[in-house]
Amino acid sequence: MENFNVVEQFGIDVFNEETMRQRLPKNVFKTLKKTIAEGKELDSSIADIVANAMKDWAIEKGATHYTHWFQPMTGITAEKHDSFISPTGDGAIIMEFSGKELIKGEPDASSFPSGGLRATFEARGYTAWDPTSYAFVKGGSLYIPTAFYSYSGEALDKKTPLLRSMDAVSDAALRVLRLFGNTTTKRVVATVGAEQEYFLVDKKNYDKRKDLIFTGRTLFGAPAPKGQELEDHYFGVIKDRIAEYMKDLDERLWKLGITSKTKHNEVAPAQHENAPIFAPANLATDQNQLTMELMKKVALEHGLVCLLHEKPFAGINGSGKHDNWSLSTDDGQNLLDPGNSPMENAQFLTFLAAIIKAVDEYSDLLRMSVASPGNDHRLGANEAPPAIISIFLGEELQGVVDALVEGKEYTSNGKQMFNVGVSSLPDFPKDSTDRNRTSPFAFTGNKFEFRMVGSNLNIAGPNTILNTIVANSLTEFADALEGAQSFNEALHDLLVKTISEHKRVIFNGNGYGAEWQAEAEKRGLPNLKSTVDALSCITEAKNVELFKKFKVYSEVELHSRQEILFENYSKVINIEALTAADMVKTEILPAVMKFAKDVCDIAVSKKSAGIEPTVEAALAKKVNELTISLSDKANELSDVIVKAQAIEGEAEKARCYHDEVFSTMQSLRAVADELETIVGEEYWPYPTYDELLFNV
Ligand code: ADP
Ligand code: MG
Repeated sequence: MENFNVVEQFGIDVFNEETMRQRLPKNVFKTLKKTIAEGKELDSSIADIVANAMKDWAIEKGATHYTHWFQPMTGITAEKHDSFISPTGDGAIIMEFSGKELIKGEPDASSFPSGGLRATFEARGYTAWDPTSYAFVKGGSLYIPTAFYSYSGEALDKKTPLLRSMDAVSDAALRVLRLFGNTTTKRVVATVGAEQEYFLVDKKNYDKRKDLIFTGRTLFGAPAPKGQELEDHYFGVIKDRIAEYMKDLDERLWKLGITSKTKHNEVAPAQHENAPIFAPANLATDQNQLTMELMKKVALEHGLVCLLHEKPFAGINGSGKHDNWSLSTDDGQNLLDPGNSPMENAQFLTFLAAIIKAVDEYSDLLRMSVASPGNDHRLGANEAPPAIISIFLGEELQGVVDALVEGKEYTSNGKQMFNVGVSSLPDFPKDSTDRNRTSPFAFTGNKFEFRMVGSNLNIAGPNTILNTIVANSLTEFADALEGAQSFNEALHDLLVKTISEHKRVIFNGNGYGAEWQAEAEKRGLPNLKSTVDALSCITEAKNVELFKKFKVYSEVELHSRQEILFENYSKVINIEALTAADMVKTEILPAVMKFAKDVCDIAVSKKSAGIEPTVEAALAKKVNELTISLSDKANELSDVIVKAQAIEGEAEKARCYHDEVFSTMQSLRAVADELETIVGEEYWPYPTYDELLFNV
């Protein structure tokens, strides 16, 4: 095999800055770069030139088509391809691509979820190029990352609100930075690094399970004798077949300019992780969507199937996607890096306090932003963070914060660190990298790690919330400080007040423990256990106000999103329930009956030979009892599905799917799983957990 030259191949399929520099006239390149750096719209005077250069480049890479690539409310990406061909009138064609076509597209929006927006507004939707995310070539098409919105400007996608929230947090952060004497920064960028967990199973086994095919998770399955208890998979030696997959995946990602950096085995058998180097939030979102797409595609080429569901297997860890988040200036300063001087520390503490306040005031929104039927299996299940939002600061930073609030001097390792410098704020050692794996929102040295995000989720949602709520705190800070007589005093008082008011959300202990649930309740922290519980907050007055203030979502958009999310919940559970009922009725019951018949046949033979069939009789009796129970529960499930389907309001419908359909599915599963442990292996209609988890 030829060696893959990473340096030469990296970003080879991306119309990135380097390619732009080579292919665009100097002044056009400069204008475009400015547009990108400042997050502005593309100047139409240069659009034709950019489009033409892109087209020529894409054709050299084998492209014949272009597509506006967008992220509708389905959470996944959408694309519609148009070829570059344009007739010349004499029967011939030329390859053409105009600035207009680059900037704006008009896909038919009517079949994407719009949550009522469709009724109120025109079905027409537009896509607009987001020049801050590079175009790329894949599978013979030029992909143009776009935002997707309706005729009257309502966002129909995940990217538009994200871009709006990035503007909001940039504006707010700039106001605060100016107060610290920063006159040079032009834009503050939310940066994100998403660690993606996934499972790989053999395609041959996958194909035999309707539940995996239709729902992405196993709806049945008794635990294998071995699970993850030996902890021998985490960071373990990567098997050849998986290593080859990972190598292929890396090469494909690198060509698309995705900085795939880390790969390793995860905690559960057959579970793995891939992490890129962080990027601006919108780019990180696009890249994570592409990563998930390629993970699935490359898997198929290796005879594998990549499962991105949050909980493909009961009883062993599910998959999450740690969303590492920070704020950086366009001149390269990480605002969550504590820094070395007292002034830098004061600025750091200001941003930290803003985040603590934001997370406490809007923990409901953060929780909502990661709510999905799949993620319901993880959150609060003692393998992933609880459904309660709290912040982990670590010992060192906690000490600093406490000292600040109590007006005491801060000491570390017996060394006095309280540094009454220009800013009267404590100095403290950098890099306080305590590791607490049970916190949903942990400070990890120079960034926060939001650990509740599910593996299948589009990260635009949670990052939109993070950006917006932090923009809100920073704006309030700027409002309070801009007119202050003494900045240092005002800042000091503001920080003490903010942290005192919001320190209830800080928790450095074990988030999995039952004590924390009780303690959190005492502190008045919400514990929204399921998606259905979590979605109501979207349209609460305080949240509507927030989003309106920062122009991230209009009230109409919020109502539409809430409806889409409720509807999605019901649809997912409906598919799961139908699949479960079908598997029981057409696969499990017949298999169990065949087994029972064979057992009874043996009993009859034994009896006629004068032998008492003790074991067979007992077994047949047990199987018979479970069979009756299984059949009853399957019928019960079919009935509650019909009941839920008939409910009108989306919220009530989702509630019924959660309380009745989902719970009936669970009890049906319990019976089926028990039968699986009794019925002979060759009778069982599909591959078991042993085969799924331990044969790749
Ligand atoms: P872990 O121990 O949790 O695996 P890593 O140090 O490997 O953590 O980093 C996890 C992710 O955090 C990586 O994607 C990394 O690029 C990202 N990251 C690092 N710094 C920042 C930052 N300033 N902003 C956003 N993400 C960051
Ligand atoms: Mg991590």
